[in-house]
Amino acid sequence: MKGKAIIADGKGNHSLEEIRLEKPNDDEVLIAIGASGVCHTDYDSIKHWPGPFIVGHEGAGIVLETGPHVSDLKAGDHVILNWAMPCGTCFQCLNGQTNICEKNSPVVHHGAYNAGHAGLERTTYQGQGILRSFNLGTMSTHTIVREPAAIKVDHDIPFTSACIVGCGVMTGVGSVLNTAQVKPGSRWSSLEPEGSD
Ligand SMILES: [Zn+2]
Ligand SMILES: [Zn+2]
Repeated sequence: MKGKAIIADGKGNHSLEEIRLEKPNDDEVLIAIGASGVCHTDYDSIKHWPGPFIVGHEGAGIVLETGPHVSDLKAGDHVILNWAMPCGTCFQCLNGQTNICEKNSPVVHHGAYNAGHAGLERTTYQGQGILRSFNLGTMSTHTIVREPAAIKVDHDIPFTSACIVGCGVMTGVGSVLNTAQVKPGSRWSSLEPEGSD
């Protein structure tokens, strides 16, 4: 099928272009994007990552079609797209650092294709498989991802709220819980008014 996507050349230019998407294979899912967040990494990427690539890695949308091996999603489901899809078997995953999975994490190799995600050839631009930011490319009418990269959410969550969970929210929550190790009930005492306990 045909779609449209914002494609960056990696030199600071980007434009709306036509892309083609294959039918979903195996455990792949075809998603109609409902909303895409804009992350600071997008700003960096359009100038510094090797182009061409489809911009955007925070997305939410509706499942349009599923591959024959998809078990938990069906057409009509609402999903958040997930680029942090651990393989579960590499050195980093086995040591609890699933965010830097050696096989699937785009955090480790910016702008590169990561082998655990839907193949490059599944989405084409001008007849060639095209890179997608964090293997998602959410600034697009459609995208193809593997089933573990699409997390089902309730229909009453607006796409515009759901989409930012995929990067902005999980980065913030990870910083609070893993890096700062803030515990339940913690507070910053300087925020308290004088004399309060
Ligand atoms: Zn981001
Ligand atoms: Zn891994």
